[in-house]
Amino acid sequence: MRTEEQYDVFAKRMEAKYPKMFAKPYGGFAVEQGWWPIIESLCGQIQSYTDWWNKNRELRPVVEQVVVTQIKEKFGGLCFYYDGGDDKIHGMVRMAEAWADHSCEECGAPGTSGGKGWIKNLCPTHRAEEDARYEERGVMVAAVFLLVIYGGMCVIVPMIGLGLFVGIGTILAIARIVHYSEHGN
Ligand SMILES: [Zn+2]
Repeated sequence: MRTEEQYDVFAKRMEAKYPKMFAKPYGGFAVEQGWWPIIESLCGQIQSYTDWWNKNRELRPVVEQVVVTQIKEKFGGLCFYYDGGDDKIHGMVRMAEAWADHSCEECGAPGTSGGKGWIKNLCPTHRAEEDARYEERGVMVAAVFLLVIYGGMCVIVPMIGLGLFVGIGTILAIARIVHYSEHGN
């Protein structure tokens, strides 16, 4: 798991290195740190390609500056959304996303998707940790569920008892009233 400090260092470095790509609100890097080097390499490749291509702008059509709109994980895969660019940049992005598909999102080591919880690309080590956490969560959910049931019973059972007590008492009282009114004693 990443720390807030690690995230801040990475995000600030990216925004400082590639100010044109992160010129608009993009919602941050919503992926774990194992994929950060992939994103950093991708941004580096995109910006240097764009700058190099556009140096000779009188000879060729200009590559529109890429502006990142969102970076996130979806169904275990990396999603890099942006405006601008061209076909070559599209290919770079697809390559980076394919690379992430085979990299642990936690540490960047070779990984696969699957597991017991959410779909996530992880190496065997982080897969084992994630599955253990998932099972722990399952036990917690079961414990909370049983506690709620038990709590409910603790309230409902005495209520039923009280209800029966009041109900029978009322019936007896009515019976007595009827008895008195009929017999007068
Ligand atoms: Zn890992």
